[in-house]
Amino acid sequence: MMYIPDWLSYFISAGFGLIAGSFLNVLIHRIPLGKSIIKPGSHCPKCGKPLRWRDNIPLLGFLLLRGRCHSCDARISIRYPAVELLTALVFVAMWTRFGWGALLVLRDWPLGALLVAITFIDLDHRLIPDQLSIPGIVLGLATSWADPGVGLWSSLAGAALGFGFFYAFAWIYEKATGRQGLGGGDIKLLAMIGAFAGPLGVFFTVMMSSITGTVIGLVWALVARRRSLMKFAIPFGPFLAAAGLYYYLLGDVWFRSMIRM
Ligand SMILES: [Zn+2]
Repeated sequence: MMYIPDWLSYFISAGFGLIAGSFLNVLIHRIPLGKSIIKPGSHCPKCGKPLRWRDNIPLLGFLLLRGRCHSCDARISIRYPAVELLTALVFVAMWTRFGWGALLVLRDWPLGALLVAITFIDLDHRLIPDQLSIPGIVLGLATSWADPGVGLWSSLAGAALGFGFFYAFAWIYEKATGRQGLGGGDIKLLAMIGAFAGPLGVFFTVMMSSITGTVIGLVWALVARRRSLMKFAIPFGPFLAAAGLYYYLLGDVWFRSMIRM
């Protein structure tokens, strides 16, 4: 394979991440509203003026505009460049971990992009759209045979466990509290993570996201001075996505340290 120096690889993966992140901003905004993700082009949410081509350049467009619309001067949310930067970070991390290859482009990067989009849609709307999670499950399964770290059987087992685990968990939670705790979107997201990371990834993701979700939920409840913790639901998708990504990137490191303990 052609030799690519590291600095150039960082540059290229960050660049693809920024471009992908800019597209994710469109997905995050439009999918929950049921709008087309292709037409019309990006426009200012306040005055409706279409963006000029240079305003559309990831990150740079925002900086050149100094965070304001070019025609009506409305503030542009810092969320847009933040999503682009985060996606760039995830893409660079994927390259650092897995290196160049077809799998990086067809499996690792799309997984990262899906997790970023799902995280922000869940934060905004408390929902995880099937339009993202179901293609994600299919992609995870379809590319698993080529991934030496997972393989087809492990991928199938992971997806099945992802479904099963949460169904059981949701059932027990409902019996115990009399309320619905987990949405169907969470179940499909965990199945998607399972399709990419295998059954161990599902175990790890459930464990890790429960711990981080509980800690952050408690802190949040204290800050917001909510009396009843149980009635206060924070979206669980971002915790699942973060834990799943962590395992996908560093799972074998984690697993090895567990064996050594
Ligand atoms: Zn405007």
